[in-house]
Amino acid sequence: SRSLCFIGERTTWLQPESLEEFLLLKWKHPDARVVVGNTEVGIEVKFKNMVYPVILAPGLITELNAVMHTEDGIVFGAACTLSHMGAVLKEAVQSLPPHQTEVFQAVLEQLRWFAGQQIRNVAAVGGNIMTASPISDLNPVFMAAGCKLTLMDKDGSREVQMDDSFFTGYRKTAAQPQEILLSIHIPYSKKNQFISAFKQSPRREDDISIVTAAMSVIFSPGTDIVKDLRLSYGGMAPVTVLAKKTANRLLGR
Ligand code: FAD
Repeated sequence: SRSLCFIGERTTWLQPESLEEFLLLKWKHPDARVVVGNTEVGIEVKFKNMVYPVILAPGLITELNAVMHTEDGIVFGAACTLSHMGAVLKEAVQSLPPHQTEVFQAVLEQLRWFAGQQIRNVAAVGGNIMTASPISDLNPVFMAAGCKLTLMDKDGSREVQMDDSFFTGYRKTAAQPQEILLSIHIPYSKKNQFISAFKQSPRREDDISIVTAAMSVIFSPGTDIVKDLRLSYGGMAPVTVLAKKTANRLLGR
């Protein structure tokens, strides 16, 4: 069995072997901290003096590392590392028609400036989403692209749209305490859809954003008339936001 339990003076570290065991543990310990790459939680513990009595480490669970190609996109298990996700997206960009991979290319553009190689090799995509930091570099892209998340607890799963109702406050999400993030669905772009991602930070490499943005536009076929527009920003508010008024004003223009 790969289930492990370490009991220290301040912290109990549990490594569940299966998804089922993970869900049961999260239900039993709703306040437990989930740790995969430890690049957020490690900082909190080491520099912010946070103490987490129960830590759940689900990084080895098969379902959380799975990559699935579907009819309309790719589903990444929440524990997929950013490096792995990048490699899969790069391959898709090379093998699919360009109009289908606008979203993937925007994610790759953000990954290029995301931390450094060492961090990307261990940090998970789920860790970035669930930390719900307003300066996350990926969440604006996921939001502008209309990604879907699958949340799960021991009684079942539900799919939620990654829109502005998902982030409910500073570092807070709509997930229930007993729920975990199973996966994220990143969609293919459609014909006539274009998406770009931007990151402004003090340094080029390995730096936190001042502001990040992702913009997705769909034009009416054969025209330059805006049919659908989503503008998402990080670093402008306590949560990743959508500039809905601006987007609405530009519809049809
Ligand atoms: P962890 O620390 O393991 O977990 C983070 C949080 O996510 C925890 O609170 C945990 O409860 C929750 N969580 C994780 N998985 C699940 C799950 N399956 N279900 C429910 N909850 C879950 N971020 C950026 O956006 N851009 C950057 O450029 C950037 N640069 C960085 C540079 C450095 C040097 C460091 C240390 C961090 C940087 N970060 C950056 C932040 C961090 O690397 C990312 O947010 C990363 O994706 C976190 O993933 P993790 O697996 O390490 O998270």
